Amino acid sequence: MSRAGRIVAGTLDRIREVLRPGMSTEDLDAEAERFIRSHDGAVPSFKGLYGFPKTLCTSVDEEIVHGIPSPKRVLTEGSIVSVDVGVQLEGLHADSATTLPVGQVAPDTERLLRVTQECLAAGIAQARVGNHVGDIGYAVQQVAESAGYGVVRELVGHGIGTRFHEEPQVPNYGAPKRGPRLLEGMTLAIEPMITVGSPVTRTLGDKWTVVTADGSLSAHFEHTIVITANGPRILTSA
Ligand code: MG
Ligand code: MG
Repeated sequence: MSRAGRIVAGTLDRIREVLRPGMSTEDLDAEAERFIRSHDGAVPSFKGLYGFPKTLCTSVDEEIVHGIPSPKRVLTEGSIVSVDVGVQLEGLHADSATTLPVGQVAPDTERLLRVTQECLAAGIAQARVGNHVGDIGYAVQQVAESAGYGVVRELVGHGIGTRFHEEPQVPNYGAPKRGPRLLEGMTLAIEPMITVGSPVTRTLGDKWTVVTADGSLSAHFEHTIVITANGPRILTSA
């Protein structure tokens, strides 16, 4: 999983390097698939997962998650795009997401990106032996709501390993010391989805893209981590 995670991190680095206003989300997808398959044995986890057609989920502005890359979706200056990617290597998966500014973005938008990263860091910090899943969600929720943002409820983080989505579910809200106990060796995808306005969602007619019901901006950051005796270790950083 650590090796799969390094390829995931490399994919997001590559996307960060090439992203420019005027590119389509399909361009990003093609770049990601090429990068992943250039590693011996590595395949995109998402392609075919529940019937999803692409390597990346690319979710722009008010889109929260599961946007489908398309040549018709051209990225414009001032937008943000959440890029979510999974890699399978030798039967094991890793999963990560980042939300990137397209060119220059407004200060309010930068703040959303910064706070959502802080949510992820706060959640990861609670991924310790003896804590519970609720400690992760509580930490994420505290950071988001004290900044005045909403926490999406309908979508959650997850266990990950030989299957892409495993138990336990890892909500981005909750109460300390509630939910399943965290054990050494558990591998989790922690993934706050944070909204500027209401966190209520709806799904578009393509049956995939989840957006904020009120059209407000949303950001999504994710890492796959393993819980060690010495605390959390991030598997999806370079
Ligand atoms: Mg993901
Ligand atoms: Mg995930």
